[in-house]
Amino acid sequence: MIKRTQLPRLLLLTVGLTSGIEYYFFPPKTIQQKEIIQYIDKSAKPVITKQEKHIPLTTKNAKSVFRQNGLLWSEKILKKQGCLKINAGDLLIISSQKENHKTTVLKAMLYTKDGYSYFFNINNKTITRSKLKRVLKTITADYKKSFQHTVAPYKLPKALTTEAMRALSLATNTKTQLVNGVKIQFVYSTIELPGNPFFGSELKHIGLRGKTKVDVFAFNQGQKRGYYTADGKQLVHDTLKNPIRSRFSFRDGFGYRKDPFTHERRFHSGLDLSAPRGTPVYSAASGTVVYCGHNGGYGKIVEVRHTGTMRTRYAHLHHIKVKLGQTIDATTVVGTVGSTGRSTAPHLHYEVIKNGQRVNPRKFSILDNNALSGKLLAAFNGIKAQCHKALTKV
Ligand SMILES: [Zn+2]
Repeated sequence: MIKRTQLPRLLLLTVGLTSGIEYYFFPPKTIQQKEIIQYIDKSAKPVITKQEKHIPLTTKNAKSVFRQNGLLWSEKILKKQGCLKINAGDLLIISSQKENHKTTVLKAMLYTKDGYSYFFNINNKTITRSKLKRVLKTITADYKKSFQHTVAPYKLPKALTTEAMRALSLATNTKTQLVNGVKIQFVYSTIELPGNPFFGSELKHIGLRGKTKVDVFAFNQGQKRGYYTADGKQLVHDTLKNPIRSRFSFRDGFGYRKDPFTHERRFHSGLDLSAPRGTPVYSAASGTVVYCGHNGGYGKIVEVRHTGTMRTRYAHLHHIKVKLGQTIDATTVVGTVGSTGRSTAPHLHYEVIKNGQRVNPRKFSILDNNALSGKLLAAFNGIKAQCHKALTKV
């Protein structure tokens, strides 16, 4: 209660507050500090701001974002609900209220690129999972100047255009086929999420309509993503000449040469590709590992059996990265460049064997004969039909 002697001072405070110059007021010692604070609090309106934050998650920031927003409780429940881990690009939308300086999370929603939403009930700490709708979107554009320039007006994410360009280059020579006047057909799928037109976007089809018709379809076999022709044949990079995909230089070709050890004329049964020690060495095509280990002058070597009677050998490896009997493809690293065995410096000795004969790797192509069949072909044809339908709807 306010004592009589304090009244004039209190009047001064009231005047100060109503005229907006409260900072001129200094509390006298006779009034207890606590009482004044209560008085000011009563007159001041609480400042409430509401905000919605869109936080793109990465595997690295997920934990700290959850901790900062008091959502750590959700981790176990999310796992139970099937969200085993946060993937880069998953999106957390948080609505929060800030009252003076206290922030309260009101609502949280997690959208994952694999097509689910998770609604966090903050009050009773439960999570509701729903499947998100995926839709197909199409773009048909007249090629002009460059691929990037042609698709620029659609503001596609860079990953999507890069993938489309890469997929296209598997099927055709883009340098000669991408010319003014050619029509580009582009089909991608995306999760419907307001304000995020490319959330979880995935390339489905890229095609060219001009003098020649080119069609490439992207298709996932489990975790593995591949690119296929319209009839379901897998397209692969022409890696035969380059099991090393980063920088390398040819040291020696196939045929007679001066032996680096004896300096005598001797037949060289493969290609020598110079690259720094540790450079990844890829399998030329899909196949099965039929040998891996140490083998005399070859040093550490991997031998792969491909379709038909083709085999490839990768020698002088520093490390071997595959196991005997392993099924691999052109995306598999079989080992790393080294200098084991009869070798003077780090390089890859690469051999192609046809019908038991070592042949010039630059002259023979190992074509991946990976064609889809059975249930996979049916699923692939389903996607192809959807793409076609989406394109003709426009
Ligand atoms: Zn060699």
